[in-house]
Amino acid sequence: MIDKQNNEWETIFQAIGHPAIILDPNHKILAANSASIRLTGKTASEIIGRQCYEIFHGKDITEPPEGCPMEKLLNSGQTETVDMEMESLGGIFLVSCTPVFDELGKLQKVIHIATDITERKKAEERVLQERNFADSALNSLPGIFYMFDMAGKFLRWNTNFEKVTEYTYEEVSQAGPMDFFAGSDRDVIQKKMHEVFVKGSAETEAILVSKSGKSTPYYFNGHKAQINGVQCLIGMGINISDKKKIEEQLRQSQKMEAVGHLAGGIAHDFNNILTAIIGYGSLLKNLIPANDLMYDYVQQILTSSEKAASLTHSLLAFSRKQIIELKPVDANDIALRMQKILARIIGEDIEINIILSRCDLIVMADQGQIELVLMNLATNARDAMPNGGRLSLTTNAVEIDDEFVKTYNFGSVGKYAVITFSDTGSGMDKKTADRIFEPFFTTKQVGKGTGLGLAMVYGTIKQHNGFINLYSEPGEGTTFRIYLPLAKTVQTKKEEKTSKNIVPGNETILLIEDDEAVRNVTKAMLEHFGYTVIEAFNGTEALQVFEKNKDAVQLVISDIIMPGQNGKETYNAMKQTKPNLKVLFVSGYTANILTQRGILDETTNFISKPLNPNSFSIKIREVLDK
Ligand code: ADP
Ligand code: MG
Repeated sequence: MIDKQNNEWETIFQAIGHPAIILDPNHKILAANSASIRLTGKTASEIIGRQCYEIFHGKDITEPPEGCPMEKLLNSGQTETVDMEMESLGGIFLVSCTPVFDELGKLQKVIHIATDITERKKAEERVLQERNFADSALNSLPGIFYMFDMAGKFLRWNTNFEKVTEYTYEEVSQAGPMDFFAGSDRDVIQKKMHEVFVKGSAETEAILVSKSGKSTPYYFNGHKAQINGVQCLIGMGINISDKKKIEEQLRQSQKMEAVGHLAGGIAHDFNNILTAIIGYGSLLKNLIPANDLMYDYVQQILTSSEKAASLTHSLLAFSRKQIIELKPVDANDIALRMQKILARIIGEDIEINIILSRCDLIVMADQGQIELVLMNLATNARDAMPNGGRLSLTTNAVEIDDEFVKTYNFGSVGKYAVITFSDTGSGMDKKTADRIFEPFFTTKQVGKGTGLGLAMVYGTIKQHNGFINLYSEPGEGTTFRIYLPLAKTVQTKKEEKTSKNIVPGNETILLIEDDEAVRNVTKAMLEHFGYTVIEAFNGTEALQVFEKNKDAVQLVISDIIMPGQNGKETYNAMKQTKPNLKVLFVSGYTANILTQRGILDETTNFISKPLNPNSFSIKIREVLDK
């Protein structure tokens, strides 16, 4: 009976598919089933009676390995399960160890049954490595990564997500997607989330609001995915602050370009009309005795026309179509000369501080135009300080590098003279500051402001290849900074002399002008000065007329831009037959080439419309007598 029972146990022991052994309390192997014998690659007699660790952990192992549960079994008296790496067998096993006690409670035997879990462990390791890889990849993303289920519960996110939102890991795991948005953006995000789960993907831009309330524009996308049997939204968010800024700048500059074209077009035509009004007016004035009542009327017409001409000039300046004459000047000299003018423009209750750079700041500039720029800034500063304050004008040199351009998003690399103009006045908010360079933008009462001052400033500085920026806050005053490129090679020219009277002459002049009104008034002026005038309305006609009169003609006065052959080409053709022929160009407009370059050739004789008879007569003599 007993034998039969023993036989049965033996059969069961052998039938266990897993390696099984029975040990005595000293780790000696009492029995081993066929699976365990197969595992060792030895025979039963080689195993029985040997120490368990010698067989299963390696023949050099002389004591129970770390993690051996024998001690624990004595204490607990229950089955213990341990993971054991058995080197000599090249695998990892899950070993369940069951103690067997005799009637007196003394440990008699331990039954070990092992399960090979090597593959499972390897798979677990692979999963762990995959997870590490995914975590590193997600954490290295420049944007934020998120994954949440249909209920909006966050399942996974990268470290950047916590950094940007300023919420901790625990807080994110408790949060929902809506917690990172405010106002109407919440509706947008809700709709887009719905879209992802219905259509498979969606994208949008929205303002991400951090825990401390910081708002940042972001681009978000989302894709539907089935992860571990759960419908999820997986997506990324990218900070688009820079892109937004550049878009805004582009929009602003395109607007300025468009308005500039419009304003420039009107101003150009207007300029020609004013040329006629001022020209005839001046002639008329010269014919009327100063004590005649009519003299006054004409004077009134001229004064108003001059005002109109100045407005037109501001518009031309804004649209960068004014003629500027660039000469080397020291920005310090300009500032110094402004001192007196400033004192006149602003009231006595405003203190003026002028601090000049100790280095020469030679720039290629039209001194008169830059003075006008500063006068406009001064007028605005005065208006911003009705109760007095301080105005400061400083000059210095700066070098703009890539870093500067990247940081401030304006300017281009190079050396510049900087004229800083600040006031302690009312300042302005960002909405106003964004628009101040637009023509006709004014916050002043009707009749007080034209909104053209800063438009002129903007165009003039651009035409000088410079740029202007401002810093202002309500109540904190305003600082404008004008950057003008420093000239590389510099030679200073002598000051031009100016005179108040008409300077006469008697030479023969060929006048080329396509605008009839302008041609007529210019001819009338020239004749008034005493010259003999031959006219032509375009280049082709001019060449024919010149052929017939080339001995008599000493000077050509020509418009630059004309349909067909332009003034310069016409003059160059004539010069072929008469090399000593002199020329004076006239224009209200710069030729495209001139506009693009922003420069008039230094050696070219030039005068701009509308023509002032005195300066015109002086300029003609200068050219003829040179
Ligand atoms: P206007 O002076 O005719 O209004 P501007 O083009 O010179 O036109 O200026 C436009 C607007 O810019 C002003 O109406 C004013 O709102 C603002 N502004 C210009 N300069 C200053 C300044 N120094 N302080 C405060 N606001 C200014
Ligand atoms: Mg102004």
